[in-house]
Amino acid sequence: LTSFSGKKVALFGLGGSGMATVRALSAGGADVTVWDDAEPRVEAAVEAGFTAEDLREADWSSFEALVLAPGVPLTDPAPHWTVDRARDAGIEVIGDVELFCRERRKICPEAPLIAITGTNGKSTTTALIAHLLRTLGFDTQMGGNIGTPILDLEPPTPARRYVIECSSYQIDLAPSLDPTIGVHLNLSPDHLDRHGTMENYAAIKERLIAGSKIAVVGVDDRMSAEIADRQDLARMPVRRISGEMELPDGVFAKGSALIEANDGAQVKVADLGGIDSLRGQHNGQNAAAAFASLSALCIEGERIAEAFRSFPGLHHRMELVARSGRVLFVNDSKATNADAAARALDSFERIYWIAGGKPKAGGIAPLDEYFGKIAKAYLIGEAAKDFAKTLKGKVDTKISRTLAKAVVQAAADASADGASEVAVLLSPACASFDQFPNFELRGEAFSKAVLELDMVRKSRE
Ligand code: ADP
Repeated sequence: LTSFSGKKVALFGLGGSGMATVRALSAGGADVTVWDDAEPRVEAAVEAGFTAEDLREADWSSFEALVLAPGVPLTDPAPHWTVDRARDAGIEVIGDVELFCRERRKICPEAPLIAITGTNGKSTTTALIAHLLRTLGFDTQMGGNIGTPILDLEPPTPARRYVIECSSYQIDLAPSLDPTIGVHLNLSPDHLDRHGTMENYAAIKERLIAGSKIAVVGVDDRMSAEIADRQDLARMPVRRISGEMELPDGVFAKGSALIEANDGAQVKVADLGGIDSLRGQHNGQNAAAAFASLSALCIEGERIAEAFRSFPGLHHRMELVARSGRVLFVNDSKATNADAAARALDSFERIYWIAGGKPKAGGIAPLDEYFGKIAKAYLIGEAAKDFAKTLKGKVDTKISRTLAKAVVQAAADASADGASEVAVLLSPACASFDQFPNFELRGEAFSKAVLELDMVRKSRE
């Protein structure tokens, strides 16, 4: 990473991607000074041989740039103060995605870069696109906001394709972001704490599309549809995608079919039926985005359609953990709010639902329309009593308290159900912090409890 060779750069935020950034900058000959609010991180960086200094006190006249790690909360006083002072001194404030884009332009601008953003579905779509490319034999690097930090990826070559998940934070800190293909999935209120208004949040997301050569835009919500309309005028036509409605031009999902439309003429290009990792309307949007992106790279539709079939999906997002006869066990621990849980409830017909945890504002009342599909609810954590009140008289409920108990109870009831397919679904509509350190460990606890069930053990033998 040579863009700051011989120059002084400051870096705030020493998490995984922050450390990757310091390593890359230093290896490229930059003189880096680091800081973080958390002392142990600063100590670890010093031990690794880097220079640390409280950047709130920094003399900005000697620095070329301030690099901010994407996870740093600008609402906290220390980073807020640091960024304000740097900006006042006329110093540019950028992130790791910006550094990557500069490097790519310098050493290999022809390396295709696919960048994905949106409020929901970023990780799934990023993993899906990377899976399709790898399956079809392309040298593919995936990272950014998912998995490997962008500056830890292998360096660009003309044959190497990059699939990068971008959070709004990362776009905000990447003024020259210029993807070959920019994918924008959807917009709903989120992260307004950092970005202020919805308009500001949308404007940041739109920058990814504005900078891209080819734009793929979901049009299922009003603000995203407006982005597509605006960008149509400003640049080459946008490729529109939808998970829920027919389009005259673009790629959309209809039932389990993926359809490509041109001037009103429709061609079925893929069948997602039977692919467990792509169940649900929301995955129709993700699959449409992936198809539109790969076909923009001139990959034949039939090859893309075939590669969909082996997509393993992501852990903790409607992940099929086990199947025992007619009973599916599904880990959707990532569904930490009602909106995300709605996607899962929409995707199954008869559900033994495990929900609860640390409650979020709004509770589960908005999920009313799905209550008819829920055979029984097993409630855990702090939210259990409140959820029971909402469900009273509508859904049979049990206060299970712990996840382990809920799994055993739900499995017993589900196996006695006569329907042709039933799901034991962990889709908590709550944060995990009352009983687990994070949603990943909650999902793992669910999977472990499922795999220990007699009925599951027997069916796997
Ligand atoms: P992100 O990386 O944007 O947080 P994920 O791919 O990790 O998104 O999916 C998180 C959750 O969001 C999923 O469990 C699912 O409930 C929901 N989701 C996934 N894709 C979409 C989509 N296209 N639209 C709306 N919700 C989605």
